[in-house]
Amino acid sequence: MFKITLTSSMMILSLTTSTAVMAEQKLNVISSFSILGDLVSQVGQEHITVTNLVKVDGDAHVFNPTPQDAKAIAKAQLVVTNGLQFEGWMPRLIEAANYQGVQVIATNGIDVLSTKEEHEHHDDEHAHHDDEHAHHDDKHAHHDDEHEHYDDEHEHHDDEHAHHDDEHAHHDDEHAHHDHGDIDPHAWHSIKNVKAYIHNIAKGLIQVDPANTDDYQKNAKDYIQKLDKLELKINAQLATVPKTQRKVITPHDAFGYFARDFNVTFLAPQGTSTGSEASAADVAKLIKQIRHDKVNAVFMENIADNRLIEQISRETGAKMGGKLYSDALSSPDQPAATYLKMMQYNVDTIVNALQP
Ligand SMILES: [Zn+2]
Repeated sequence: MFKITLTSSMMILSLTTSTAVMAEQKLNVISSFSILGDLVSQVGQEHITVTNLVKVDGDAHVFNPTPQDAKAIAKAQLVVTNGLQFEGWMPRLIEAANYQGVQVIATNGIDVLSTKEEHEHHDDEHAHHDDEHAHHDDKHAHHDDEHEHYDDEHEHHDDEHAHHDDEHAHHDDEHAHHDHGDIDPHAWHSIKNVKAYIHNIAKGLIQVDPANTDDYQKNAKDYIQKLDKLELKINAQLATVPKTQRKVITPHDAFGYFARDFNVTFLAPQGTSTGSEASAADVAKLIKQIRHDKVNAVFMENIADNRLIEQISRETGAKMGGKLYSDALSSPDQPAATYLKMMQYNVDTIVNALQP
């Protein structure tokens, strides 16, 4: 009896296998996180299967890869990552998997946003806060050494910085978000950038699977048309909100590119990574600024611990505007299951909360 069952199931198995071989062998693609995974799916469509390492509603900043993730990468024909140091855990994982295949860094060639510029912009806007910011600038002064714009004006600080170097190095280890240097990795919140993502993804797929070049090119073109349409719609929606109202708070600094493209000011108690907690001083300063600038709404994030944001809402009276999807998509039954849906949902949520 047992023998018969085994034989028949083996027959089914071999039938299934030969059918699969007769049909197209799908490319096995690994994407580092869900937002990127959707973009890869849009270009690859029926020719690929995509596995996301960081799942929906997951936080890539603090992701811990498992041996299963290394196994999945070892079996892949293409690995797609965001780059800009978003996936700090990736190089080790690629090495552990001994992956030798093609890798695509989706942000290649995009217009990168530096967090340093953001601070400077911020300073210009709030000139009357100079004294407070001066303190803040000292904290970040060790970053200046790396910058070309480090000019004569600052030269008299050199000695001071020199003997602080060790201290700062230690400080950097403790606070991982400072390790991002001056690069903001959240480039997908710019639709312009995502068009570059799509081009890079299509290039990678074509390199690995040239037989389907026409399909990948057509899919990329179709999707970029959808992005163009969405971009126009978002601009029209945001135009209904007066510029002075366009100030919002989120838990971590994930929306710098959105801010740049769509002219909305985002403030956050945490930096561009969720890897370390906001200090009490940072929170106190933010609360002061919310009151001063009359910021109307604070938002939760799908990937974040939202207790601090709730506290800030309570202390300032700024209303809770809802939840934004920052670094991950939602599950299929929630409103941000694809990139297009995520962007639309975020804009709807922001515009709704900011209506005068
Ligand atoms: Zn983030």
